[in-house]
Amino acid sequence: MLPLKERFDLPQGVIYLDGNSLGPLPRGAVARATEVMTQQWGQELIRAWNTAGWMDLPVRVGDRIAPLIGAVPGTVATGDTLSIKVYQALVAALKLRPDRRLILSDKGNFPSDLYMAQGLIETLDQGYRLLTPDPEDVLNTLSARGEEVAVLMLTHVDYRTGRMHDMAALTQAAQAAGAVVIWDLAHSAGAMALDLTGSKAEFAVGCTYKYLNGGPGAPAFIYARPDLIEAVEPALAGWMGHEAPFAMDPAYRPAMSTERLRVGTPPIVQLAILDAALDAWEGVNLTELRAATMTLSDRFIAEVERRCPALTLASPRDARRRGAQVAFAFEHGYPAMQALIDQGVIGDFRAPDIMRFGFTPLFLDEDDVVAAAAVLERVIADGLYREARFQNRAKVT
Ligand SMILES: *Cc1c(COP(=O)(O)O)cnc(C)c1O
Repeated sequence: MLPLKERFDLPQGVIYLDGNSLGPLPRGAVARATEVMTQQWGQELIRAWNTAGWMDLPVRVGDRIAPLIGAVPGTVATGDTLSIKVYQALVAALKLRPDRRLILSDKGNFPSDLYMAQGLIETLDQGYRLLTPDPEDVLNTLSARGEEVAVLMLTHVDYRTGRMHDMAALTQAAQAAGAVVIWDLAHSAGAMALDLTGSKAEFAVGCTYKYLNGGPGAPAFIYARPDLIEAVEPALAGWMGHEAPFAMDPAYRPAMSTERLRVGTPPIVQLAILDAALDAWEGVNLTELRAATMTLSDRFIAEVERRCPALTLASPRDARRRGAQVAFAFEHGYPAMQALIDQGVIGDFRAPDIMRFGFTPLFLDEDDVVAAAAVLERVIADGLYREARFQNRAKVT
């Protein structure tokens, strides 16, 4: 049944291999945003919080994300950005292990996740330390120093190489050592079937503008294991996480649900767009999606290696150990990506030398992948990337 290209508004003549960074525009999103702005905001004005269900939208959308990450409804709160959700999860996790001082992550983690941890450590000023071993050494570090680890905080799929951690095994090892576990699912949610409940992890966070196609700046999500929600002390005690926001109680009383991880007023237009985007997942079997991703990415690797010997695979060769993206290292990676985009094949570049391609079978098929590899071959073999206009680094790469 895949792909489902008709569920997206993709420009003609473009092969989009960057749905891992910003998902494309889902078909119903423009109509939904227009309805929210003209009918709801425009006509209903402030009444829309009640009459158009705005107040319930963050919860409703969280409940629609839950099955996509292997969680049950009522366990996922939406809002803010992923960086904020990382911070909240980290504070909540540290409070669950007050006598431990190590935060264990890995060197390949997304910079913002590490920055949030570093900033929090400085704010707390209580002797916390962040350990960032090589991703392959996380398990060893847990064996050696697990008793000191308060929190294991990892991104499931590496943003640069696509290398995937073994979520079940690492969660089990960390919890056996007494640590709390946070998974960042930024590059996993919507890319594969996940079993958050089965993993028994305490927390998970993620964003919705990548594989979930919620649009630029779409709200993030946070999951807390339902049995410990009442033990979670929200670090950012905003009124939308209060048990009764409109009681206007000067004392903070957290909601007795995952909603306590909300902070302020929800971004309604963006949430409505995300709600429309989640329609694209109707009837999609995530196990089939994963199989299709593996086929597409394996085919791309084979084509690129045959056609472009100057590029070196920087992702695990075994598709079972990769997420839905493939990275190739190339010393002229930045201008090569610009030249490729100029030819209608859109991927992206991550410093220092990674050309990154996402394989999202909701809207890609094998013909797209082969055609993209053929264009890449031309860009490299004919030296198209040497043109001056491709050399200057833009703000977003
Ligand atoms: C994309 C991404 C982010 C981005 O965080 P924002 O606050 O939404 O900008 C953070 N962490 C990881 C692992 C990501 O992949």
